[in-house]
Amino acid sequence: VAKTGQVSTAKVDWRAAARLRKGHVWVYRSDLLKAPPADPGSLVLLEDERGKRLGTALYSSASVIALRLISSDAVTEEKLPALVRARLEAARAYREQVVRESDAFRVVFSEADALPGLIIDRYNDVVAFQVLTQAWDRAGLRGVVLDWMADALKPRAIVERVDARIRQLEKLPPREGGVVWPNSPAAAAGAPPRTVFHMNNLAFEYVAGEGQKTGAFLDQRENYAAAERHSRGEALDVFCYQGGFALHLGRRCEHVTAVDSSRPALEAAERNEKLNAGALRVKEMEWIEANAFDLLKDYARAGKSYDTIVLDPPAFARNLKSVPRALRGYKEINLRALKMLRPGGVLVTCSCSHHVSESDFLHMLTSAAEDARRRVCLLEHRGAAPDHPSILQVPETSYLKCVVVAVSR
Ligand code: SAH
Repeated sequence: VAKTGQVSTAKVDWRAAARLRKGHVWVYRSDLLKAPPADPGSLVLLEDERGKRLGTALYSSASVIALRLISSDAVTEEKLPALVRARLEAARAYREQVVRESDAFRVVFSEADALPGLIIDRYNDVVAFQVLTQAWDRAGLRGVVLDWMADALKPRAIVERVDARIRQLEKLPPREGGVVWPNSPAAAAGAPPRTVFHMNNLAFEYVAGEGQKTGAFLDQRENYAAAERHSRGEALDVFCYQGGFALHLGRRCEHVTAVDSSRPALEAAERNEKLNAGALRVKEMEWIEANAFDLLKDYARAGKSYDTIVLDPPAFARNLKSVPRALRGYKEINLRALKMLRPGGVLVTCSCSHHVSESDFLHMLTSAAEDARRRVCLLEHRGAAPDHPSILQVPETSYLKCVVVAVSR
């Protein structure tokens, strides 16, 4: 390991070299033959055991993912801003091509846009970004990204969303989230920016800094439309958050019951219902604060039945070890839902755990269908909306599964 000019070089083992040559972008700390004498977040040139160049990566002194490839060429600190701007432009151009019926979408999705560690979401005229690694916290790189967001996306405000746990894991100093642009004391001290954004011609409120992710589950946008197309009659949306699926169902179904354990999420859902009053077919949505597992059990016992059910739980498997337990959790709720469907009824069932593979998920659903003694027909097998691209060579970029099935009549 040596420092050439200002960029250090790291030698990686054959396993990491093979992974990088096949198009993956991660080097684990255990792949390093010697840790580079690099500053946190700096550029590091990669080479294999025989000294052959593999590209340039961003270094983290804290993560088990020590290096994330940013280019298969040699990149210097001087050339980095131009490379980052080119990547940001490419990400933006791609969204212009794939995003329909929405002014809210993911503009940059980390590894999937070859900008590992950076997330940028747009909510109409407000842009929210999140930094997941040391590199994007460096003043220089942050400045490049901020200038680009202001110039290229022309928002009313840019807010930083901070995940304290991630900053701790990356050994980054704690930082407050909030407005970072316009860069005025009034903007920083004022109330968090609010806006209304649109998906599939429904309106949703956005309050910077509140809610999960950067505010909404934009990755489900096209699955909302799919669920709506298949829905009818009486519907149940379990794990409804701020009403993403439920309000789409509300345009087509006669009655919608939506369940979540979070009161603030349900309050936002109710405000979203008011925003869309003119567009809904149901007279009044039914929002219920409850534990979904208990509620499904109680409803099944009470003999309730539905024509349409949506299940979109939080990630049950955060790591590989928790996959078997997660699958039991998925099976429990899917089994109950399948049993509660009326003949011809439709189940829209999701998992956002990367560690639960598509085949694991389908296998779980098959087993639930067997136990429910229902003949189940696969209608659609879906993933995240295309503004959350799945890169085949980087399987970690694929995480969302959304399967639509119908039980036989
Ligand atoms: N379907 C939503 C996203 C759901 S995220 C959308 O498209 O916007 C998962 C939701 O599950 C969160 O809102 C969280 O509050 C809720 N949740 C987590 N555990 C729960 C439980 N045991 N019972 C009910 N809701 C739960």
